[in-house]
Amino acid sequence: MAKTKTRKRKSPFKASKILKTASYKYLACECGREEKVDIDAVKVVCSRCFTLMVPPPEEKAEYVPSGHPPGWHFMTEYVDKDGNVFHRGKEQPKLKGTLKPTPPKVKSKSKRRTKEEILVEREAKKQKALKKAEKERLKLLGIK
Ligand SMILES: [Zn+2]
Repeated sequence: MAKTKTRKRKSPFKASKILKTASYKYLACECGREEKVDIDAVKVVCSRCFTLMVPPPEEKAEYVPSGHPPGWHFMTEYVDKDGNVFHRGKEQPKLKGTLKPTPPKVKSKSKRRTKEEILVEREAKKQKALKKAEKERLKLLGIK
């Protein structure tokens, strides 16, 4: 008897593997959709219902600025504006207020385009390309 080969599948979600075996049947999900399942399966949850069962992925926590400059916890010594002293990111409460705040690094002055500027630029590019295409079209038609 080949009873050992038709193992009972606890999870109805591994549908892809079931396709390889010849012993399957169709079982209706609660929603009415029929799914191909192992012959031993007693219940099936279709992919759609399964998706609904699983909560949506958690939203990524929004970036909360620490108020420290980037890379501050790698600095040998960093003093924030309140006088808290950190040695390689570890707070040194005993040293609080004994040192001057680490001056913020001056960022390079490369101007960052605003979203609007980028959109305007993109639109202009698009218009240019359209104009060129139109010119080419007229040329092909022998109008110009
Ligand atoms: Zn379903």
